[in-house]
Amino acid sequence: MKLPKKVLIANRGEIALRVIRACHQLGIKTVAVHSKADVDALHVKLATESVCIGPALAKESYLNIASIMSAATATGADAIHPGYGFLSENPAFAEICSSCGITFIGPTVRNMRMMGDKARARRAADKAGVPTIPGDSQGYLNSEEAFAIAKNVGFPILLKACAGGGGRGMKVVENAESFSGLFSTAQREVEAAFGDGHLLVEKYLPKVRHIEVQIAGDIAGNVIHLGIRDCSIQRRHQKLIEEAPSIGLDPALQRQIENAAVELGKSAGYTNVGTVEFLADVVSNKFYFIEMNTRLQVEHPVTEMVTDTDIVKEQIRLAMGNDLTISQDSVVMKGHVIEARINAEDPKTLIPSPGLITAYHAPGGHGVRVDSALYSGYTVQPYYDSLIAKLVVRGEDRNSCIEKLLVALDEFIIEGIKTNIELHRRILRHPDFVTGRHHTKFLDSIQLFSEKETWGSDVRTHA
Ligand code: ADP
Repeated sequence: MKLPKKVLIANRGEIALRVIRACHQLGIKTVAVHSKADVDALHVKLATESVCIGPALAKESYLNIASIMSAATATGADAIHPGYGFLSENPAFAEICSSCGITFIGPTVRNMRMMGDKARARRAADKAGVPTIPGDSQGYLNSEEAFAIAKNVGFPILLKACAGGGGRGMKVVENAESFSGLFSTAQREVEAAFGDGHLLVEKYLPKVRHIEVQIAGDIAGNVIHLGIRDCSIQRRHQKLIEEAPSIGLDPALQRQIENAAVELGKSAGYTNVGTVEFLADVVSNKFYFIEMNTRLQVEHPVTEMVTDTDIVKEQIRLAMGNDLTISQDSVVMKGHVIEARINAEDPKTLIPSPGLITAYHAPGGHGVRVDSALYSGYTVQPYYDSLIAKLVVRGEDRNSCIEKLLVALDEFIIEGIKTNIELHRRILRHPDFVTGRHHTKFLDSIQLFSEKETWGSDVRTHA
């Protein structure tokens, strides 16, 4: 088995720890890179060695390719793991790694380019015979051309950035009258956020589930799936709770979705791990491709726990040109797993809440996993994503999993800042979530907090 000798992790927080641990378990040395604001971060303490790559702002440090490449060269790293976010889906970065003789732990540059643009990704799905959402597989800069497509598809439609991500810049257009105004607003936002104003026109599907499939492929052309994840609990198109399997999803439809993901992977010649995302209508039993992420997902632990696999180790092995070590037959979902994303934010207003952690205790026990870089005395920085912990729980079935997660949330102590732990408690107890009547707009359509409730940072976050 060919493995790298030293991996530089071009990331921070919990995902940097996740990768460092996998490397050390494989006998690989690690290099942590960090901004000046992250001198005391746990990934710096746990890595074999560390290098400061710039000031606090991400564009001067974690997105600073020159600085990261200098750190890799100076420390003799022979591979770079990008984690998620930051440079993980940047084909130019992957190309620079390869021109420096450093293995980029991810798919090929060709795969990244093909899937990095939502219009191009739709065309790849069309080619593989995978159903896409009614709409068009071209990106538009011109409002009149896009309007013609919208009229054809029928309102309501959704405008989204071809180069987009993280749910940013999406606009639902209810009728023809509001099209041109919303097109201009969306284009301005998208141009500012991604530097590319091309917009995709798709039918807007209300009350659907977000179902995604974890796939993995090797350079010999083998592609397998590791089952689905249901990520329908979202806030403004951003995932908050993920689970596997999916309640109420017909097993035959699940198999069709998994097979479609593998077909796309094969048709694209996909190598390494990736996630194919779909929207599924559990009433009409239809499903549609939305996009593919060519990187490790935040929610990969859900799949790891429900299938008892290690996706990060497989990712490292695949990047070095090894064959898949997991066979399709060995992938079996056992029990039920739910992940709750714990964010440093006011649970009601969603305003970020950075600051000093004055007390910290993570829950534990059978089937309870916490991926976090927090510790007591650590200061959550205001410069980066507000995700501070992922609490992932496995139960024999969905109900026992929900109960176990509620107990674990009660045990979680994070003092000094506000967190969304209480929000998770309320979602998990909501009858529509418990009975599986939820969908991607569920959280945006209900009120979980009364007008009077406020959250102070002095409030203990455990029961
Ligand atoms: P991003 O890359 O910005 O995360 P995605 O295409 O992955 O965008 O979609 C994110 C979420 O937005 C989906 O999970 C779903 O909730 C919503 N969404 C995307 N496309 C549609 C659509 N055509 N109709 C309704 N909701 C959609």
